[in-house]
Amino acid sequence: MKNFVQRAIQKIDQLDSKQIVEILKNQASDAEMLESVLESIQDGVILTDDHMRVHYANSRCRALVPMVRLKNIDGLPLSRIIEDEHVLRYILLAVRDKHQDENNEFTFQKGSAVQTIAVTVYTYQSSSERINASFVIMFSDVTEHNANEARLRRSENLASMTTMAAGVAHEIKNPLAAMGIHLQLLRKAFDRKESLTIDDAERYLAVLEEEITRLNSIVVDFLFAVRPMDTRLRLGQITKTLEDICSFVEPELEENKVSLVRDFATSLPRLEYDEHLLKQALLNLIKNAMNAMENGGKLTLQTLLDGDQVLIRIKDTGIGMSEQTQQKIFEPYFTTKATGTGLGLTVVYKILKEHKGDITIHSRLGEGTTFTLSFPVPKSERLALKWESVTEADYEA
Ligand code: ADP
Ligand code: MG
Repeated sequence: MKNFVQRAIQKIDQLDSKQIVEILKNQASDAEMLESVLESIQDGVILTDDHMRVHYANSRCRALVPMVRLKNIDGLPLSRIIEDEHVLRYILLAVRDKHQDENNEFTFQKGSAVQTIAVTVYTYQSSSERINASFVIMFSDVTEHNANEARLRRSENLASMTTMAAGVAHEIKNPLAAMGIHLQLLRKAFDRKESLTIDDAERYLAVLEEEITRLNSIVVDFLFAVRPMDTRLRLGQITKTLEDICSFVEPELEENKVSLVRDFATSLPRLEYDEHLLKQALLNLIKNAMNAMENGGKLTLQTLLDGDQVLIRIKDTGIGMSEQTQQKIFEPYFTTKATGTGLGLTVVYKILKEHKGDITIHSRLGEGTTFTLSFPVPKSERLALKWESVTEADYEA
């Protein structure tokens, strides 16, 4: 459509007035169509030139953000039209690409309800010389979307609480049964008025004590797994944390004939993490890896940058897992070990979620297992990365 108009302009002197009228009519109907599309969408749209003068605003805008009620806003500066200073400030910063970590969501009281509006600014490179750069500002109502997300998070939490609670109920059944049996034995001895030997009494008491200890550890582990974590995220270099962990576990690994390979990326952006919790997650994973390599093997700790994510891999050459096992390992109390608690990976998963990270497994029976943890690179560090890649490219050119 654009090319057609450009061509028409080039040979305008060869066109008669009828043809020109026809072209203008077509243009007008195209413009009308575009406008009715923009009017029919649920989002607010404002178009401005690079001096932030408004050239178009659909009527939906007014329903989403506080704006002046003028009939003709064409050519007016944006600052005269948008009445909310926070939204305006955000847009002006976005235009100058000085965003940092600002939140693009704004809340407004609408009657008795609160409405959340997301503001997005796009730069539009126009081919026309008259307007060399312009901006498209979009307002979207994300109230419903945010509420759905919160609901989902809550129900996920609730679901994991339910499985945890079911797990605890199951776990405490055995110790309670053992305690019940031994109390009955004591009761019978009393009822028959038999004298109880000290040895027997010792045995019964030992069982009762042991089971009480077990019950206690089930409850303590459970509480640790379900209690909200006291997470303190700080910007830091994970390589340093990983080095610390390596020196901590290396002696024990050596004792178990497991060699440790450090494969760390040379330069990584900083991450927002809780050092204490990350160490705990890694130790749980390393312990599992060691358990999987009873006859020795190789443990590789690797870090790498993958787009907007930093990955940490823990790779072992141990017994591996079947597909079936892989599907269950994050469930609380799932264990294939005689003395396992089945809570190690539940805690790892929880720690990862606290960091907005994720965890994936790759495993083959008899070959080994790789756990990959991914952490989002904070926005402020992304800018630094972008800058680095720009300057590198400049040097190469
Ligand atoms: P636990 O170690 O107490 O059994 P976890 O939650 O740490 O509990 O692990 C659950 C199960 O996942 C383990 O019992 C084991 O079957 C499996 N698993 C975890 N890590 C590995 C690994 N590196 N290699 C093989 N199996 C593993
Ligand atoms: Mg474990």
